[in-house]
Amino acid sequence: MKGRRSGKATWLVTAIWGLNAVGLVGVLAGVMLFQNRPKPVSKPEMLELAIQGTPSLTPLPGIHYLPSVTPNPFTTPIETYNTPTPFVLPQGPRPIIIGYSVSGRPLEVYRFGQGERQVMIAAGIHGGYEWNTIALADELIIYVNEHPDIIPSDATLFILRNINPDGDARAHSIDGRVNDHGVDLNRNFSENWQAEWDRDGCWDYAPTTGGSGPGSEPETRAVMNFLSSRHVRALISYHSAALGVFPGGEPWEADSIDLAKALSKVTRYPYPPIDTGCYYTGTLADYAVSVGAAAVDMELRNHRDTDFPQNLKALKILLNWK
Ligand SMILES: [Zn+2]
Repeated sequence: MKGRRSGKATWLVTAIWGLNAVGLVGVLAGVMLFQNRPKPVSKPEMLELAIQGTPSLTPLPGIHYLPSVTPNPFTTPIETYNTPTPFVLPQGPRPIIIGYSVSGRPLEVYRFGQGERQVMIAAGIHGGYEWNTIALADELIIYVNEHPDIIPSDATLFILRNINPDGDARAHSIDGRVNDHGVDLNRNFSENWQAEWDRDGCWDYAPTTGGSGPGSEPETRAVMNFLSSRHVRALISYHSAALGVFPGGEPWEADSIDLAKALSKVTRYPYPPIDTGCYYTGTLADYAVSVGAAAVDMELRNHRDTDFPQNLKALKILLNWK
């Protein structure tokens, strides 16, 4: 019959087409397997894939992915910390960084004026426990920056706003007093230093030590280096709270007594200071006296207020101290 194949021929055609179909399926399966096999993904591609997964982010042509980031040993990892009292002076001098705390936070000194007679304010040596001294230093920095005429032409003012930034970052309470080695920095200076002391009449709310040796702490050494390499004529080391104005020196040094009296007169902080029976060792004021400054420890009224008006008067006494 026309067009009809024999039964044998039909079987042969079916078999050939069947083999073709099997072969095609096999080829397709091979291609799919090849395409789906896990590819070794290099790091830049992984980054690009991650970005592509974010709907609104398209990689810009100028962005280059670096394979790794080597930490710079000289950077300050301050952004990884939650600093309770951050401070930036938007328009004014940049601070001089005189050293770093145990945990790598910078110790910043603001400088105002160009005169030869150098005077200094230091705050925050007892960290977050006396955080209001840091707040006061910041208020004074802002004030002096806005009123540069307050600096006599023959004077230079240094304000070290926070000697103990690790304690300040840790807590605004008793727990914030010591540095990250558990050392009371105002017992760590080399003058009249002791590792331990009789706690009778002294601050004793939490464990503290004077350190493993005189000037063992990086914060203390930074301040000692700063003071010993300059000729600071007069220094106020701020504390809180309430005990008054303590002259530096052991026994109290004459110029420091005069400075304490003058400061007490304008601030109304007690002089002579309240005697709790504590014998103070390794203090910043004693060290400052040993390198030629008239120096005092001066206590704000409480642990909350900065007493700004009184301390602006105190600043004027300091700036004009001869
Ligand atoms: Zn203190």
